Amino acid sequence: MAERPKGKIIAANEFPLRGFLKCPQCGRHISGSGSKGKKNVYYYYHCNSKCGYRHSSNKVNSAFEKELEKYDYNESMNSLIKEIILRNFKSIQENIDSKKKEFSIQIANLINRLDSAREKYLEDKLDFEDYQIIKNESKKRIDELEMELQNQKLSRKNLDIKAKLDQVLDILPNLSKLYLKGDNETKSSILCSILAEKLEFEETTFRTPKLNSTLAQIVLINNQLRSKKKKKRKHF
Ligand SMILES: [Zn+2]
Repeated sequence: MAERPKGKIIAANEFPLRGFLKCPQCGRHISGSGSKGKKNVYYYYHCNSKCGYRHSSNKVNSAFEKELEKYDYNESMNSLIKEIILRNFKSIQENIDSKKKEFSIQIANLINRLDSAREKYLEDKLDFEDYQIIKNESKKRIDELEMELQNQKLSRKNLDIKAKLDQVLDILPNLSKLYLKGDNETKSSILCSILAEKLEFEETTFRTPKLNSTLAQIVLINNQLRSKKKKKRKHF
C-alpha cells in the first residue's frame, strides 16, 4: 500500500476491476482510490470526469463475483458444448466457403465479359464508347467482389478457434472460483480473456456484459440446454 499526496491511498488488491470499467453516466474510464477515514480506509471506484459516479469497491467487486457465478456450469457438459460449437463452426465455415466460391465465379465471369468486349472492340464489332462503359462497369464490380472475397477469407481465418476451445472449456466451468481465488494478475487475465468490452456497473448490478464470441456462444448453449432440461422436468 503506497500513500499518495492529498491523503489518497492506492491498494491494487482493492481494485481488480480497474481498467475494465466504464462510467455508465459519461462513458469515461473508471479509476480506483482510497481515502482515509477516522478508523478505516474507504476504497471506491470513481469516474475520471466530474460526473460524480462513485461506488464502494467492495460493492462493485462482489457484484462482479456474483455476475461470474452465472456462467458456472457442470464440467460434464463440456463434451456436449464442444460438439455443438464445432458443429456450428462447421456450418458457418461451409457458408463462408460457398460464398467464396460464388464470388470467385462471379469475378471469373466478369473477366470473361471484359475479354470478349475487348475482342469485339478490336474487331470493330463494338464502338469505343460502349466498350468503355462495359470496361468501367466490369472493373468496378470486380473490385467490389474482390473486397467481398477478402472479407470472407478474413472471417474464415478468425473462425479458427478449435485449438483455443479446449483451453477455454478447461477453465470455464469453474470460472467464478478461479477468479475469486486468483491473484490480481490472474483476475486481469481472466477479465481480458472473457470481456469484449468494458463493464458498466449501475447502482447494484452490472449491465449485461458483452463477452468474447466463444464465451458468448457457450453461455448461449448452456442457457438453451438448461431451459430444455426445465421443460422436460415440467413435463413429468
Ligand atoms: Zn462519468
